[in-house]
Amino acid sequence: PSFLTHLPLAPKDPILGVTEAFQADSNPYKVNLGVGVYTDEQGKLPLLRSVALAEDQINTLKTARGYLPIEGLGRYVRQVQTLVFGENSPVLQEGRLVTVQSLGGTGGLKLGADFLRWFHPAAEVWISDPSWENHRALFEAAGFVVKSYPYYDPETHGVDFDKLIRTLEGAPRGTIVVLHACCHNPSGVDLNEAQWQAIRAVVVERGLIPFLDLAYQGFSQGTEKDAVSVRYFSELPIPVLVANSFSKSFSLYGERVGALTLICASREEAQRVQSQLKRVIRTNYSNPPTHGASIVATVLEDSNLHQLWEDELGAMRNRIRFMRQALVSCLKEAIPDQDFGFVAEQQGMFSFSGLNLAQVRRLRQDFSIYAVDSGRICIAALNEQNLERVVEALTQVIR
Ligand code: PLP
Repeated sequence: PSFLTHLPLAPKDPILGVTEAFQADSNPYKVNLGVGVYTDEQGKLPLLRSVALAEDQINTLKTARGYLPIEGLGRYVRQVQTLVFGENSPVLQEGRLVTVQSLGGTGGLKLGADFLRWFHPAAEVWISDPSWENHRALFEAAGFVVKSYPYYDPETHGVDFDKLIRTLEGAPRGTIVVLHACCHNPSGVDLNEAQWQAIRAVVVERGLIPFLDLAYQGFSQGTEKDAVSVRYFSELPIPVLVANSFSKSFSLYGERVGALTLICASREEAQRVQSQLKRVIRTNYSNPPTHGASIVATVLEDSNLHQLWEDELGAMRNRIRFMRQALVSCLKEAIPDQDFGFVAEQQGMFSFSGLNLAQVRRLRQDFSIYAVDSGRICIAALNEQNLERVVEALTQVIR
């Protein structure tokens, strides 16, 4: 016998498990609403034209693939800072930002978690209830005790803001608070400006450490507006962490392009923080990969490609909004005594449909329509070909 002899089987990932079940289903009319990726009106994962053009440029250069610096591609890091914090950002101009390239948004969160665990080890991590299912696992894997703060209220389909604020007011000093910068996953329900301001005040008063997760910049109101929450926090004289991702906004899921940024009190503090973050990276995977970051840098640096990308991102955002409205109006016709208007108000790829577990199971068994057990459905997976089938099935299980 070895240490593996009695190794238990790990539980399946709740979301990737849905995709496995979907792939095993032989029904030609099956629909996967479980995933967190954007598919176009043909149901296909898009290769953005801006990305393809940048790749053409990169290919003609025929560059060798040396190691990148530990912190990543410099051109990329600069573009991340401008996109997330804004061209005229004081913290950027004052040299107070430390940004490192990461393996997707997940990698940015994990670098931040490891860094915090080294240098702020006694803190608790608080995540929203509910949250992206990997938040808890990731911070626990880094060694933290993870708790949650109230967020979504199923009664109102909104944020239970009073409870949220009261809970944060009771957080121990130094608590790390993970906040979805926009397009809350899984609920699709975002905070408004006044609510962000109120959270910011509590963060300062209670000495909390905000960790913003910006995985969907551009999927709610546009790249600038979706970063306002980050910009609010960047005005504060406290440490702030931001993990951002280009998986969704560039449709570059498999290239693993993201970043972690820390806002520091001074240029000198930033240098110390960067040196330690480089140690975290060096002892994990040494240095990041080249290709995805050079695509993103090439697109964002070139004004034409940048504009093309913004347009393509805008088209994704608008198609999702259009499908939300189509879903709401079809459901209104099919089930006139129930109000699904809240679905049209939600932001980003997802909707908390309000389906319960029995309904989700029935959708899967009887109609080959796959949602997440929590009732989360991916609106970006709807299109004009599958909408009617989805509405029919929803009507059957809801009635
Ligand atoms: N954070 C949230 C809230 C997400 O929804 C996701 C992806 O689903 C991520 C982070 C991670 O994104 P990436 O694929 O870039 O690691």
